[in-house]
Amino acid sequence: MLIDLHAHSNISDGTETPSQLVAAAAAAGLDVVALTDHDQTSGWKEAGTAALEHGVGLVPGMEISCKAGQGLSVHLLSYLHDPDDPDLLEEINKARGARIDRARRMVELIAEDYPITWDLVGEQSTPGATLGRPHIADALVAAGVVSDRSEAFATVLTSHSRYYVGHYAVDPVRAVELVRAAGGVPVFAHPMAELRGRVVAPAVFEDMIEAGLMGLEIDHRDNSAQGRAFLRRLADRHGLIVTGSSDYHGAGKPNRLGENTTDPQMLQRILEAGTGSAPVGFMHS
Ligand code: AMP
Ligand code: FE
Ligand code: FE
Ligand code: ZN
Repeated sequence: MLIDLHAHSNISDGTETPSQLVAAAAAAGLDVVALTDHDQTSGWKEAGTAALEHGVGLVPGMEISCKAGQGLSVHLLSYLHDPDDPDLLEEINKARGARIDRARRMVELIAEDYPITWDLVGEQSTPGATLGRPHIADALVAAGVVSDRSEAFATVLTSHSRYYVGHYAVDPVRAVELVRAAGGVPVFAHPMAELRGRVVAPAVFEDMIEAGLMGLEIDHRDNSAQGRAFLRRLADRHGLIVTGSSDYHGAGKPNRLGENTTDPQMLQRILEAGTGSAPVGFMHS
């Protein structure tokens, strides 16, 4: 069983449609894939149809933008929550709106030095997609400033860059509570992504666990080796679900589907705990 529980479509910052993503999962030999776009679930329906077509199991999910303390960006995966839960919807809608204002501001700043425009960014994203720095990166590629997203993130778009602007996002402890209240399974995404930047303090893990965090995404290319060891101890101590996933973004990132996978027993625990929506294409026993 090959199970990959973290992948993005062009509903957020992936480059493929939800059905193309599911087709890619089937082609990669995956048995199960989760669609986890940033801050929205509007790809679930199309992905579900494609999952039945391709004989792949689909776990509907989402990756919630969160902000800990003074602006440290944190991502929380949610599986099988109720997509219509009003409290959770309010937060992700706020984040999506804030992301638009923030992207506009970043583009204004970048446009002082590089030949990009807001229209060019618009051309790089699907209407209604959750906007992020990857779309600005694509505009920089289109303008010939950089050769790919990775180069854009290493230069103009880093969080230390003078063009960087933050955006509103919910506190991660509150996000865990919201996911649980919506019948979802909250899993901390790439918690020790020290290669990307700062990570949260141990106390934040404890607070999230107390609030009902159910899992840790340990096998992810951005987690450091030391960080993974810390996470394994934490998972053992608290009996948490552990996952491994690719964080696939289509052509937008080098991450390949199935490069990290999740143990079937861990998937089983997620399927049993999630009560807000139904997985697609699983046999019921
Ligand atoms: P944002 O949430 O708008 O600040 O942008 C962060 C997003 O950029 C994450 O969801 C990642 O998928 C993406 N990202 C981060 N680093 C890179 C990179 N080096 N190359 C491509 N995409 C990246
Ligand atoms: Fe992303
Ligand atoms: Fe993430
Ligand atoms: Zn992701």
